[in-house]
Amino acid sequence: MSEQSSLLSNVRIVLVNTSDCRNIGSAARAMKTMGLSELILVDPIEMPNGQAQALAAGATDVLKNAKVVSTLAEAISDCGLVVGTSARSRTLPWPMLEPRNCGEKLVDEAHNFPVALVFGRESSGLTNDELQLCHFHVQIPANPDYSSLNLAMAVQTLSYEVRTSFLINQQKTFKTEGENLSKNLPKKVIDEEEQFPIMAETERFYQHFEDALKATGFITPTHPGLVMTKLRRLFNRARLDVKEVKMMRGILASIQRVAKASDKTQNKE
Ligand code: SAH
Repeated sequence: MSEQSSLLSNVRIVLVNTSDCRNIGSAARAMKTMGLSELILVDPIEMPNGQAQALAAGATDVLKNAKVVSTLAEAISDCGLVVGTSARSRTLPWPMLEPRNCGEKLVDEAHNFPVALVFGRESSGLTNDELQLCHFHVQIPANPDYSSLNLAMAVQTLSYEVRTSFLINQQKTFKTEGENLSKNLPKKVIDEEEQFPIMAETERFYQHFEDALKATGFITPTHPGLVMTKLRRLFNRARLDVKEVKMMRGILASIQRVAKASDKTQNKE
């Protein structure tokens, strides 16, 4: 199996609403040099053209195979880990990763499911709503007086961190596999239920939570406030696994049943 078709094909680069397609071409080149191939373009303002191809150089295959979707949610729905990038701190603090830990975490979890690194618009980065779809944020600790890298250069820097972790991981795997073979030990089997849910399931969980909180009256649809944002941050921190999400959804369903029953009683009175 070639290097690209292995673990690294589970690491996805997502570019949101890119306005200059030359940056898409350069990002494709940056990715390929680091062994990454999965590029997703969310609603690009300018579709890749000849100029993008010229900048992609030997990575036109990455550009040609790029998937175009209309929303970030669509781009990451099957991912179990999503990291958003930001050139500056935002008003609502979110769990942060250093670029090095970010590479490690992406490679580590790419063993189980697709993972994504999300990059924003050249002009304004990612919106708060988009950043809230991510488990973690990563910021390249650039010059505080001038911290905004060119989009493709940010892709290069963070892809390099992914590659560094991938190479370390490969060395460890070869070592352990060698030991396992010599001792005839089985490979570790991961219990499916212990895994983290993919984004589509996580989003269904948040929707269920919101519905339940509306049913109890904790959230008023006209003034929802920041409850859901804060809950997203809380559950991101806790990182529920598949079993825990199932249990929480059972709890939410029981709350909804009680709220519905009390609603009926009140209507009768
Ligand atoms: N003016 C924008 C910066 C956009 S730069 C802003 O204030 O947010 C375009 C994209 O490159 C960003 O959305 C981010 O994905 C990436 N990027 C640039 N500099 C970065 C940095 N220091 N750390 C992490 N990502 C960065």
